[in-house]
Amino acid sequence: MTDRPLRSRTRQVRAGLNRSGFSETSEAIFMTSGYVYGSAEEAEASFDGTLDRMVYSRFKNPTVATFEDRLAAIEGAEAARATASGMAAVHAALVCQLKAGDRVVAPRALFGSCTWIINDLLPRFGVNPTFVDGTDLDQWKAALATPAALVFLETPSNPTLEVIDLTAVAELAHRAGARVVVDNVFATPILQSPLELGADVVVYSATKHIDGQGRCLGGAILGAKDFIADTLSPYLRHTGPALSPFNAWVLLKGLETLDLRVERHSANALAVARFLEGRPEIARVLYPGLESHPQHDLAKRQMKGGFGGIVAFTLKGGKQAAYDLLNGLEVIDISNNLGDSKSLACHPWTTTHQRLSPEDKLAQGIGEGLIRLSVGLEDAADLIDDLRLALEPGTNGSKIRV
Ligand SMILES: *Cc1c(COP(=O)(O)O)cnc(C)c1O
Repeated sequence: MTDRPLRSRTRQVRAGLNRSGFSETSEAIFMTSGYVYGSAEEAEASFDGTLDRMVYSRFKNPTVATFEDRLAAIEGAEAARATASGMAAVHAALVCQLKAGDRVVAPRALFGSCTWIINDLLPRFGVNPTFVDGTDLDQWKAALATPAALVFLETPSNPTLEVIDLTAVAELAHRAGARVVVDNVFATPILQSPLELGADVVVYSATKHIDGQGRCLGGAILGAKDFIADTLSPYLRHTGPALSPFNAWVLLKGLETLDLRVERHSANALAVARFLEGRPEIARVLYPGLESHPQHDLAKRQMKGGFGGIVAFTLKGGKQAAYDLLNGLEVIDISNNLGDSKSLACHPWTTTHQRLSPEDKLAQGIGEGLIRLSVGLEDAADLIDDLRLALEPGTNGSKIRV
């Protein structure tokens, strides 16, 4: 590989490539849990650190390392570690740096399992959460007026697409002594760079746009070299949420087309959001790319090249109207996954966020009429037709199922 600094699109395709003795074009899959040593002395040197080599795939694996290095190069992070799922990444990124007595500040609008970790799991170990309205800087100021260890947030958030001012929150957090961990799943590394905006750590569910084709679970944690080596890596090494080399290979091939796919997801989502906004059956459309979004100006400042593939909208007719719409779709599938090449729609109240109390759902802006739509890579005109026909059930007769 050249020593010249390469641009982002080139890094997506080539970063981390480390060809084996067979000089293969495509990255090899090293499905191996262990590694052999030429002598007992070499084994000893590998374990005492005098020799830098792979010893066990819970610690390091060549295919996983290619994925980690490529993602770090795209993100502009010093280092990355992969995990078996997005939730393993969130859990490890938080727990590896928290201890009893610490305080965590987070917005109420979070992915359901992230809320569970912060609200239910961490307090069992003496870590206390404070929740704020993520879009209200005064609430962040009040929560961070006293010392805190960590801020965790998603922007745009799942599923209500709240946009949080990363620069402002990172400044407040650092003044309070807190490190900032950002779940950047909805924006992807293509549309938003939290580390440039002041965050300390970025986490991904690679299951979503990084794979982008609904094939496997994966996650990643990115940040400064010292944090990854000294704080995160010992935690991963001894607790073992390791990514399979096969899944790492699927994900690293996904990275090669990430910007192309994210551009299409974003363009399709904007077209679908504009269509939905014009429909009388719909009370409200939430998409950061719409002028009507409450943080549209902030989203324009802190995101680049698009606003992502997720649109949320509320049917005036509540839960029954939401179910009628989902059941009337013939191209878009009902699924709680997102970031897939196929468009997927779900009803967060009864699926992804079912476990939250009605009060907590409403506090997050999740009503009974809300639908979350992950807009795929199909032709936007077919998606709009599918939504239009599902909103007008009387006209469904002549449709052919695909
Ligand atoms: C899906 C998702 C996760 C969890 O990722 P998994 O790969 O499903 O474990 C975390 N945060 C956000 C915002 C997500 O959308």
